Amino acid sequence: MVNVEEIRDYAANLLGKGEVKSVLGFRRGSASAFAEPCTITDVGEAASLVWDPTCLNNLTLYLVKDHKQQAAAKTPDNRPVGIVAKGCDSRAIGVLLQENYFKREDVVVIGVSCEGTGVVDPRKLSAKLKGRTASRVSFYGADGINVRVYGEETETVIPAQEVLADRCLECRAAIPTLNDIVFGEAVGAREFDEPFHAAKAAESLSADERWATWEHHFDRCLRCFACRAVCPMCYCPECVVDSTTFVVTLGTSAEEKANRIRWCERSANTSESAVYHLTRAIHLAGRCIDCGECERVCPVNIPLRLLNTKLEKEAFEMFEYQAGHDIEQASLLSSFRDEDPNSFIR
Ligand code: SF4
Ligand code: SF4
Repeated sequence: MVNVEEIRDYAANLLGKGEVKSVLGFRRGSASAFAEPCTITDVGEAASLVWDPTCLNNLTLYLVKDHKQQAAAKTPDNRPVGIVAKGCDSRAIGVLLQENYFKREDVVVIGVSCEGTGVVDPRKLSAKLKGRTASRVSFYGADGINVRVYGEETETVIPAQEVLADRCLECRAAIPTLNDIVFGEAVGAREFDEPFHAAKAAESLSADERWATWEHHFDRCLRCFACRAVCPMCYCPECVVDSTTFVVTLGTSAEEKANRIRWCERSANTSESAVYHLTRAIHLAGRCIDCGECERVCPVNIPLRLLNTKLEKEAFEMFEYQAGHDIEQASLLSSFRDEDPNSFIR
């Protein structure tokens, strides 16, 4: 069982010695039983850190934000940032290191094992509680989640399989492979769903059925871009889907202006949304670490994991490649093998 006091002590020690400028972690949420991300900079704040199955967010997003802020600052603080990291968070950090987004010495990874379970899906929990609201959610043991409901004295143990986030059910590495220290037990294979369970189920549909499914989802997309905003891998300063950069000079003709390339319009119609999602999925091929954040924040419940895990599955089956598992490995799309059987590569 993860001892949260040990995490607090470790974070306080890092801050006390000035070895990090801040620690990214979780604290008790003010609006619900679910934890909220926090950045602490003082030793005294370390006591507010929590760790339980409500720590949903991939905190790597805030490492990216800090990196951008420091790059823009006149007097940047280049000390490392400490980060409380689950298995999927650590893989996200791994991808950013593989891509040289920042350096290993820029981050102190305070790893936490998800042990026998993972994090809870708020939508599944809400359905399970049938309108009641959880006041406390905690680990119970190897395969259960303890839930206390507002106004009730007793706690209920819900089997983990019924309320865990889908990505946790399929997770192949519930312990941070990249870390400076790990709290909690190292776990091996878990007996929930097989890896790529949902992607395999989707593959069993016919092409027409798959297109009808995605046409329905693309039609519902609001183009709010919450999925992009929450993704630590979507760090480009300018995104292809909302590029507005077009240098107009005195010599730019009206025709050139009219014909300037627009890769994708912002309007929320089915074909434009299809372009947005397929472009994003391709940009995430070999990079998405299945943290599920994009799907979690989507206000209309579009199953974005299906798109991204399909590409993750292809990368694994064709190249035995797992994003973020090995920071010494070259990124999938920036490398090739001499023995590649396809002639186009040579
Ligand atoms: S695409 Fe979604 S699941 Fe993949 S890294 Fe980004 S937020 Fe996480
Ligand atoms: S998929 Fe969901 S989160 Fe992403 S742009 Fe569409 S509505 Fe927004």
